[in-house]
Amino acid sequence: MSGLRIPLEGPDGAGTEHALNLLAPNPSEMTLDGTNTWVIGLGEEVLVVDPGPDDEEHLARVAGHLEGRRVTTILLTHRHHDHSGGAARFAGLVGAPVRALDPTHRLGEEGLGDGDVLTVGDLELHVVGTPGHSFDSLCFWLPRDRAILTGDTVLGRGTTVIASDGDLADYLRSLDLLRARAEQVGAEALLPGHGPVLPDPIGTLDGYIAHRRRRLDQIRQARERGATTPREIVEIVYAEVDRSLWFAAEMSVRAQLAYLDGRVRP
Ligand SMILES: [Zn+2]
Repeated sequence: MSGLRIPLEGPDGAGTEHALNLLAPNPSEMTLDGTNTWVIGLGEEVLVVDPGPDDEEHLARVAGHLEGRRVTTILLTHRHHDHSGGAARFAGLVGAPVRALDPTHRLGEEGLGDGDVLTVGDLELHVVGTPGHSFDSLCFWLPRDRAILTGDTVLGRGTTVIASDGDLADYLRSLDLLRARAEQVGAEALLPGHGPVLPDPIGTLDGYIAHRRRRLDQIRQARERGATTPREIVEIVYAEVDRSLWFAAEMSVRAQLAYLDGRVRP
């Protein structure tokens, strides 16, 4: 692959030849350095993936960066507000439609789903349905750069939380699918929704899959030791994790218990 950029000072400005990250200023424990907003394409026309939160300065910076180039479409990897909150305002700034899987987050006629192919100039972007982190999570494969934009399905650091609108069984299937896809197409980079670019897609996905299996085993063991509530399980399984993140761990445990018990989450 030509042109993998991994700046030492953080995710801002990272990317591949045809994908550039403009980092949003919303760092937190859940969003790592902030949300990655991706500009796709080098020509007259570009796509923008995940405008990020409704932050005027950030949206103006992204619009300013375009220098007269036209945004044909704004795409959302998923509906969570740290990715979608600024979409409507950004759409107004640049005069482009918003395409998303979730109809309530679209602006314009067209939806977005697995198998869709968008073109911008001579670049193609292929949509891959990867539900799990949220029910509407999508990944985008850029064949020219051998890169996959992963939204929150895979993060640049740490692991992903299964949100209250997600599902662990779906997520495990999506990880397997992404891993198979990455191998089949020879992917050379993952471009996540938060954190730095990942230059080893297969290794990263194997790590994610192994981590999930390990956590499920730990939860089974914690239950065997008598833990019953999500909180009790968190206290055992996530003992080494900072307490400020236990609310996220508890969300994750709920998703894992639902998976282990074969329950469909409400
Ligand atoms: Zn996010």
